[in-house]
Amino acid sequence: MTITIKKSVVAIMKCPRCVQRIHRAAASCPHCGFTLADADARFGAEEVRIRCLTDSAGILRRGDREKVELAMEKITRRFPQVFVAIYTGSLGEVANIRQFGFWLLNRSAFEDVPVEKPNEAGILITIDPESKAAGMVFGYLLDPFLEESDTFECLSRAHAYWLEGRYAEGILRALNHLDGILRKRSRQARRDPEHFERKVMPPTQMGDLVRRIRAGHRPVVQQEETSEVVS
Ligand SMILES: [Zn+2]
Repeated sequence: MTITIKKSVVAIMKCPRCVQRIHRAAASCPHCGFTLADADARFGAEEVRIRCLTDSAGILRRGDREKVELAMEKITRRFPQVFVAIYTGSLGEVANIRQFGFWLLNRSAFEDVPVEKPNEAGILITIDPESKAAGMVFGYLLDPFLEESDTFECLSRAHAYWLEGRYAEGILRALNHLDGILRKRSRQARRDPEHFERKVMPPTQMGDLVRRIRAGHRPVVQQEETSEVVS
C-alpha cells in the first residue's frame, strides 16, 4: 500500500468500503479487509494525471471555474502546506464515491501542485452529478486539522445547491466552510503547538517516495483525461 498509511500516530479514518472507523496505519480494514489494492482492482492501479480542478462531468461554466479556482487558491494561500482538489465525473456503475475518492487521492499526480507538496496534504472533493453523490477525503497530513465530521459538514453546506444543479455555488459553500474550519484549527494549533506538531510529524522517507512517484509520472505521452479511469 502507499503513503497514506505510514503513520505513527493514532489517526482515525473511515474505511472507504464499510465506513467503520479504522486506524490510518492499518494496512487493511480489520472489519472488512479493504485495502488500496482493492480500490486499484476496481479503478486501476495506474496513477492518473489530473489538475486540481478537473471537471470531467462538465458541470462548471467558465465563470464558475474561475470562482471555484479563486476559492481553492484562497485556501492554499492561507495554508501553503495543503492543497485542494475537485474532481467531477460520472462514476457510473463502478462506484461508491467514497472508495473512488480515496483511490483518486492516492493515485493522482496533480499536475498543478508543486512536487514538494505530497498528496497526503491534499483535500479532495469528488462530485458525481449523475448519481447525485459527493465525497470528500483528505490526506493524513491533515489529520490534526480535519475530522470525518468536518467533511460531512462541508458537504452539507453544498448539498442543497448541488441537488438543484448549482454546482459552483455548492462548491463555494463547501470551500468556505472548509476554510473556516482550517482557520479555527490552526489558531488552536498556535495555542497548543506541541499537540499539533507531534501529530503532523511526517514519516521520514515520504518525500522521496512521493517525488519518485511524481517523477515516474512526468508526461511522456499526453494521457487521456481521467474520464477513462472512471468509465
Ligand atoms: Zn472496512
